[in-house]
Amino acid sequence: MPKKMPGPTCVICDRPLKETGGVRLTWGGSRGVTLRSIQDALGDIHHPARTIRLEAKYRDVLVIFFGKWSDEAIERARQVAQKSQRPWFCQHCVWKAICPKCGEPMSPVGGADTLGDDGKMRHASAISGMATRCRHPDCANFVGE
Ligand SMILES: [Zn+2]
Ligand SMILES: [Zn+2]
Repeated sequence: MPKKMPGPTCVICDRPLKETGGVRLTWGGSRGVTLRSIQDALGDIHHPARTIRLEAKYRDVLVIFFGKWSDEAIERARQVAQKSQRPWFCQHCVWKAICPKCGEPMSPVGGADTLGDDGKMRHASAISGMATRCRHPDCANFVGE
């Protein structure tokens, strides 16, 4: 599937990345959203998922993986996908990606798929023993850069 640029806001809370901080996620905290072409949409999906066909783009489907998804969030994701952009969600909207002490996004988010400004997807592997860390210097949980 050709590279797609990120949608304007988190599909869950509808805030841009400059407000939420952290990274864009497409998979993490037992929630995921992706775009697939119809041929591979059904082949390698192993999780409970909901697929949504896009209008007038017969080769693409939006795939929503399990987790809590409101109807508004799904609709936002559908609209982003419909504009040929890639839906994403912010760290505030997934489990364990926000520092419990200060509420700042932590990094890295182990096992997550992230989406860069340039539309590139990266996978952060969940290496055991690699703690997700707070990067906020004033926080009691801060463990350095
Ligand atoms: Zn969000
Ligand atoms: Zn913190």
